[in-house]
Amino acid sequence: MLSKGDFPDSAAKILEWIDHYLKNIESFPVKSRVKPGEITNALEHIKSTGKVDLDEVIQELNDIVLPGITHWQHPNFHAYFPANSSIESVLAEFVTAALGAQCMMWQTSPVAAEMEEFVLNWLKRELGLPEAWEGVIQDTASTATLTALLTAREVKTGFSSNMEGVSPGMRVYGSKETHSSIEKAVGIAGIGRKNFVAIEVDDQQALVPDVLESCIKEDLADGLIPLCVVATIGTTGTLGVDPLAEISEICQKYKVWLHVDAAYAGTALILEEYRWMIKGMDRADSFVFNPHKWMFTNFDCSAYYVKNAEYLVRTFDISPEYLKTSPLGQVKDYKDWGIPLGRRFRALKLWFVLRLMGVEGIRLKLRNHIEMAKSMAEKVSAQQGLEVVSGPFLNFFAFRSNLSEDDSTNDVVTEALMERLNASGVVFLSHTKLNGRFIVRMVIGQTYVNQAHVDRAFDAIVKELNALKPMVR
Ligand SMILES: *Cc1c(COP(=O)(O)O)cnc(C)c1O
Repeated sequence: MLSKGDFPDSAAKILEWIDHYLKNIESFPVKSRVKPGEITNALEHIKSTGKVDLDEVIQELNDIVLPGITHWQHPNFHAYFPANSSIESVLAEFVTAALGAQCMMWQTSPVAAEMEEFVLNWLKRELGLPEAWEGVIQDTASTATLTALLTAREVKTGFSSNMEGVSPGMRVYGSKETHSSIEKAVGIAGIGRKNFVAIEVDDQQALVPDVLESCIKEDLADGLIPLCVVATIGTTGTLGVDPLAEISEICQKYKVWLHVDAAYAGTALILEEYRWMIKGMDRADSFVFNPHKWMFTNFDCSAYYVKNAEYLVRTFDISPEYLKTSPLGQVKDYKDWGIPLGRRFRALKLWFVLRLMGVEGIRLKLRNHIEMAKSMAEKVSAQQGLEVVSGPFLNFFAFRSNLSEDDSTNDVVTEALMERLNASGVVFLSHTKLNGRFIVRMVIGQTYVNQAHVDRAFDAIVKELNALKPMVR
């Protein structure tokens, strides 16, 4: 076992390794090229089960770990969504790991509780959320959404479902474009996945409020219980924005819980010009966004806000004798604000990011990403053989090939284009389907991405497209 005296030298080696990795990250293929089982094989080749020294483990980082990494922090990672880290947040994680505090209750580390409250209140004001709302850090948006459903379930049943179990007939609504975590949560909450009602979207991939209202009315007429609507600000496929003002009125009218899932796009609320996305928020009940997506705070850190913290605590509070210790009422025991008992000191990385980058620094980065996405989309539009089919909106747009007159041929070409780009190692892009057609999504959101990287992505796209031209002749 390493002793405390070994720390400076060992830490220096790891720091050097990380420094080297971050400086050379662009030399790796963005998407890992290993085949299934390759890593397991390599691990099984490690014969010795005895203790080894750090140099050997560092060698394994190079030989086994790095080839199996898809480099999310590569500036040409344009797939899925940003999951950006930052130097600021990595530094905080060193400290958090060293402190190793379990932050379940106030007394198990008062600073964790009070800093969490402070930093989430700070963030709440920067995002323009209702002043009276209160926040708590969850691991993921999936957990936050489950937390919202469980709270809605308790409130709807007069706080009896935790004790009595769930009776059938509850209904949860969201658009067809809602994230898969919603339906998963409906299942876990005992509501039954068949009771997730997927509402039609318009051509902007936004939920159609009239359809929502008629579904709720129909369910009421059938004796069912409309429990919760999940509105999405920034859908996973193409960043559609559900019309919150109208949805929130419907929810108020029928006394349905409204949960707002802004996991990815929520960060943009820090920019005044995007506040329109949450018009009507004061009529909602809960809201989640992930600083671990586009706010430079490494996974995991999901900010969950509620209108009524008492409902939340009544749903999750359970106090066996050995946990009855805190000065009740004066302090927050965040174990009562969500599912797990044990909690990491996640507020510290938010604190580091907000303090060291400054809110202004975050705004600058976001605007820069948005600007780069816009100009890249313009270039793609102007390129013969390509068309932009969604966006640009925020730091995202989607495109496909229009080399052929025939849409199915264009599907094949677009998919082949993406495969070639990803195999090249230069960039990593992901796809979705829009109106049944294969489209490539491009997200520009890594912390250190700059115009030169975006230009490189453009050049790679043109090069691979040219290579595919014979396919259509
Ligand atoms: C990413 C995403 C989620 C899931 O987030 P996790 O934190 O990974 O659970 C849910 N909803 C939307 C809209 C997302 O973009």
